Amino acid sequence: MHKNFIAGEWVEGAELNFNINPSDTNEVVGEYARSDAAQAEIAVDAAFEAAPGWARVTAEVRGDALDRIGSEILARREELGMLLAREEGKTLPESIGEVVRAGRVFKFFAGEALRLSGERLASIRPGVETDVRREPEGVIGIITPWNFPIAIPAWKIAPALAFGNAVVFKPADLVPGSAWALAEIIVRAGALPSGVFNLVMGPGSQVGDVFAKSKKVRAITFTGSTGTGRSIGMTCMQRGAKVQLEMGGKNPLIILDDADLQQAVEVAVTGSFFSTGQRCTASSRLIVQDGIHDRFVEAVIKRLASLKVDNALADGCDMGPVASQSQLKQDCDSVSSAQAEGGHLAYGGELLERETPGFYLSPALITETTNTMRINREEVFGPVASVIRVRDYEEAVNLANDTEFGLSSGICTTSLKHSSDFKQRSTAGMVMVNVATAGVDYHAPFGGRKNSSYGSREQGGYAKEFYTSVKTSYTLA
Ligand code: NAD
Repeated sequence: MHKNFIAGEWVEGAELNFNINPSDTNEVVGEYARSDAAQAEIAVDAAFEAAPGWARVTAEVRGDALDRIGSEILARREELGMLLAREEGKTLPESIGEVVRAGRVFKFFAGEALRLSGERLASIRPGVETDVRREPEGVIGIITPWNFPIAIPAWKIAPALAFGNAVVFKPADLVPGSAWALAEIIVRAGALPSGVFNLVMGPGSQVGDVFAKSKKVRAITFTGSTGTGRSIGMTCMQRGAKVQLEMGGKNPLIILDDADLQQAVEVAVTGSFFSTGQRCTASSRLIVQDGIHDRFVEAVIKRLASLKVDNALADGCDMGPVASQSQLKQDCDSVSSAQAEGGHLAYGGELLERETPGFYLSPALITETTNTMRINREEVFGPVASVIRVRDYEEAVNLANDTEFGLSSGICTTSLKHSSDFKQRSTAGMVMVNVATAGVDYHAPFGGRKNSSYGSREQGGYAKEFYTSVKTSYTLA
């Protein structure tokens, strides 16, 4: 049984959790501790005690710890990738890629620990020195979703530790395996003082709730659904805690008549269906200009038919299964609802049988949709994309922005005028030109606008906004 790590010790949970392989539901990947609220409180107390000491440790020592953690993750990429593929269902190459990203994130923030800087301002008073410095927040509560079981924890834990904070970390119930493996590396390779890092696996309603409500947790960083994020945000605001929320998306990808057809097909298929479409940045709304529409749809269907949907570990697998039974139901319901509203299921959306029993769904393409249909308003979070036909660029931009979300957006065009204009007018936090809406660099700011995100950006140099607090001091020498 894999235990929690609380207050410097590996401890059992109140109950047990089992993760099931979505590519082979006969396989239990592992047995994991499941904590209750009382254990979460103990972890928070331990982090609160440890935080001031870790804040005083030199940036070099913190950076070295992160560097060792990053090196071990990278060295074990194949094994950790295999575990990730088995518990989440991403293909093995995608899973290994995610592990590599996690390792590189730790390496990046190892350097950032030393680069944290302040500034000295000219004073309006004679002889007074005005200094601005950044200090750790204290205890950071980290709550993560199931779709990136190692990369998202890494891009939250690494900056938190780099800048001198203590951490209480709660992964998603569905994917404790990658989180546990990451925690074990952090504990051993990082050699952190007791209480600085705590892994508390367990349900959001208990463990996550304690993090959100505890006065000892100064800041909460959350990635997950919009509904959960909003409620955590309200709780944090009521008690004056800092909060960062990364939530859902309904990301548009515009294909203009002047696009390179083959490139546009690859951008759309990669952005909509890779990682089984289970990415917050997936391009689920394909907004296609009339002149290229029919050729584009035909070419996408041909490409989708060439994709191998199979066990995530199978050779040549392009798309693994959906992550869980409930997610599969949500995907199928979305397809049915789109059809009921007049959408045409042009390809896929069928349950598939493979050698091993799993949650296999063929990639679904729904054409003849309008932007008011449910399929284009609500996040599906699966291998389902819809096509909206438009007359011209103006209509395309207006529809792209007509959504409550604003995470990522994209355009396929050879027009400098339209690509530049779209970068200015898109209401998303990330804009892609001739590249997929999903797939970003780990050293660049990540985040959205409107109902997709709340608070400061994650990743890269921008991460310090959330994980540090600014202090201004005045000195008359
Ligand atoms: P979810 O909201 O169900 O769960 C996310 C996390 O919150 C889990 O760890 C869960 O246990 C916890 N949680 C649930 N209820 C809680 C509560 N009351 N208090 C505290 N914590 C609670 O989301 P999910 O299904 O795991 O993930 C899918 C969602 O994540 C999608 O909407 C997707 O768009 C979003 N996502 C967003 C980004 C981004 O960066 N914007 C990235 C990945 C995923």
